[in-house]
Amino acid sequence: MPGRPFSEPTATFRFDPDQWLWCLHCHRFFQGREARPDRVGGMQSCAFADCDGAGFGVDLLAWDDWPRQNPDLRASWPVRSDLRTGLVLDPWSADPDETDDDDGAPSPRTPARPAPNRDLHRLDALLGAISLDPVGDLTPFRGLDGPSLAALLDEGFALPDLPYDGGPTATECLAFLRQWPQAWAQGHVVAPTRADYGVVLTGIECSVRRVPRDDRPALRAAFVQRFGLVGALYCDPVELTAWWG
Ligand SMILES: [Zn+2]
Repeated sequence: MPGRPFSEPTATFRFDPDQWLWCLHCHRFFQGREARPDRVGGMQSCAFADCDGAGFGVDLLAWDDWPRQNPDLRASWPVRSDLRTGLVLDPWSADPDETDDDDGAPSPRTPARPAPNRDLHRLDALLGAISLDPVGDLTPFRGLDGPSLAALLDEGFALPDLPYDGGPTATECLAFLRQWPQAWAQGHVVAPTRADYGVVLTGIECSVRRVPRDDRPALRAAFVQRFGLVGALYCDPVELTAWWG
């Protein structure tokens, strides 16, 4: 059966050719005229063939969107007259909090006090089904939903107020999971032999297809706004992932 030619466009979005953009995946700047066709025929993919960034407002942002949202980045962001195609700006290496870690000193953001509840049978009942194989003192898990996180906090298995490795607190993550119940948290349990025993969250992930189509732009905006500057962010048309641990 002859197929329809793939080149027939089903989306007609075009960037302003002079618009400067910045790619969240490869951290490079380029202009709208250099964008490549995306899978549905629009011009919404990163200019660089070795990068899979795609979608305006998803991976491809107006060049000065991020420094507008985070004044701490303004000083390190290039001014418009300095922009050139291929210029790289990695906001995480530009984060002064990150460079502080380069001196080898322990991070002051890592929790050093234990969670109060040491009932490991109960902890296993809450997390066992989504836990992975232990790695040393840590037992990772994925797919933690809002109600389960609320139980871990209520019962004293996680500290509500201490950010882990520069990420949001468990309370802040819970607020996001309650607003977006299609999102899940990931993290690990630190073994009770350690002073920082307890459940630690290290990331949030969300399958976009679980969210009604009309709500997806709001989800992407909320995700980038909440988690865009706390660690690493991966956004593609079907999956949003942020991690900081
Ligand atoms: Zn890119």
